[in-house]
Amino acid sequence: MNLKVEWTSPEDLEFVAEKLLFDYQATGGDISRPPIPIEDIIENKLGLELIVDDLRTKQGKPDILGCTYVEDKTICIDSSIQEEEGQYNFTCSHEVAHWLKHKDLYLAQRKQTSLLPREKEPIVMCRLTKAIQQVEYQANRIAAAILMPRKQVIEALKDCRQLLSGEIRHRTQYYIKSEVEQLARECALIIYKRFRVSIQTMQIRILELRLLNSIGTVSLL
Ligand SMILES: [Zn+2]
Repeated sequence: MNLKVEWTSPEDLEFVAEKLLFDYQATGGDISRPPIPIEDIIENKLGLELIVDDLRTKQGKPDILGCTYVEDKTICIDSSIQEEEGQYNFTCSHEVAHWLKHKDLYLAQRKQTSLLPREKEPIVMCRLTKAIQQVEYQANRIAAAILMPRKQVIEALKDCRQLLSGEIRHRTQYYIKSEVEQLARECALIIYKRFRVSIQTMQIRILELRLLNSIGTVSLL
């Protein structure tokens, strides 16, 4: 389905993830430190079935990563990424984001357009090379906030203090964009493993949280 979503602020997208983690913790889930147990959240917190399957062959799309079937309460992940821990975890989290943020919209739009019974279809076919639409941007942002909560990232960056303090000594003003990106990459290399995500995913998260944008912010570490 070509799901049409309205623009949502980054703060509201962060809140979707924070609420999930708060509820998970309230029912006994442990999120005191990374990694966030995304499979447990899917199966035990949300009550969804998690299936790894050869979606690329079945759907005839060579770059599909995962999809979510609302009526079946099922999240499917393509078997080709099963061994790539970072990609696998992020795709699981991305599908959780669709479930939380887009499920009701999907049902409403499907009701409007389904005059005749049709084959089951997922909310979105989540693909590697698909141009980033608003619906996918939203799922990515929520997915990142689930796996890399702001507080935990700030805590982890304390282990980059040496790297960051070295930078501070040489700088008196705001970083320029390429320097921030490079610094975020170096920090990501130090901390990504504990979050069980890829280096690039970690780097993007550090950047989108704007934790390295000014000397003032870095020196708070
Ligand atoms: Zn998606």
